[in-house]
Amino acid sequence: RQRALNKLKKTAATTADGEEIELLANIESADDIKALHNLGADGVGLLRTEFLYLNRDTLPEEEELYQVYSDIAKKLKGKPLTIRTVDLGVDKNPRWFGNNGTPNAALNPALGLTGIRLCHAEPVMFRTQMRAILRAAVHGKIRMMFPMIASLSELKQSLVHLETAKKQLTERGEPFAEVDVGCMIEIPSAALTVSSLLKWVDFVSIGTNDLIQYTLSVDRSDDAVSHLYQPAHPAVIKLLSHIIRTANRVGKGVSLCGEMAGDTTYTRLLLGLGLRKFSMNINNLLDVKDVILRSDTEDLENDIIKIVRNEDPDKTDALLKKLNEFDP
Ligand code: PEP
Ligand code: MG
Repeated sequence: RQRALNKLKKTAATTADGEEIELLANIESADDIKALHNLGADGVGLLRTEFLYLNRDTLPEEEELYQVYSDIAKKLKGKPLTIRTVDLGVDKNPRWFGNNGTPNAALNPALGLTGIRLCHAEPVMFRTQMRAILRAAVHGKIRMMFPMIASLSELKQSLVHLETAKKQLTERGEPFAEVDVGCMIEIPSAALTVSSLLKWVDFVSIGTNDLIQYTLSVDRSDDAVSHLYQPAHPAVIKLLSHIIRTANRVGKGVSLCGEMAGDTTYTRLLLGLGLRKFSMNINNLLDVKDVILRSDTEDLENDIIKIVRNEDPDKTDALLKKLNEFDP
């Protein structure tokens, strides 16, 4: 089976009815890029940047960040690189943030000062990272995205910081390039107001790991409730459908970069919902491509209507099973 999959490395991810699907990689360092090229991924849909902030006593400086991002951008040889601004605060709690690297002691850290909220509370850190990203964009096709946006006001506030970062570089006479800007949709409030958010960004990327957690009120890291963590829960499917349809309607990019994108149980579901860009752990790429090659999006779009309307979680498995039965 692995040999059959290996043959797909150079095959374009096109559905049976000719829809071209973009398959991107989630990476955490430059080490993953060799595999990315080897497996024929179209680029990076999510670079998690937290590693640059952890296990150290001081904040990284702009120059260090610039070097790391530039290095990755160059190694991608023109393929797009989506850099997510730093998403710290829940489990990833940096030492320099005054807590010895121990987990966040807040009673509900996942509802606390994390992600973009932490960046707004630490504007010097935030703008330093943005300047590094803008400078690195000279060396490749870089896109910037903000994590954990809950509302339009948070997005606008982030964009103000971005303008300030650009102004600072201009004043220094530092070369930089414009980047496409996007935000993650991983909080239900963002999902429900995505049409407004889309007016201010070039693209959105759906973070199902958190979107599922917040929609179902199920801690993504708590084994005691892992049986309730259901990616295909009807409420999650309705939100995904809304986000993807809205973005497609206004012609803005929408990708999905949560674990769901790399799980073949959901590939056809997502294709049927209209998703055309998947970003995943590279180890899953060929398996997902294999399903894509054997899927017909027109058929799926018909089958999906029933799934989007369904509100009974007990019926989801059977509906998905039917969707995933491979035709000859
Ligand atoms: C997500 O929430 O789906 C996501 C991709 O981000 P992270 O897993 O880093 O929170
Ligand atoms: Mg997330």
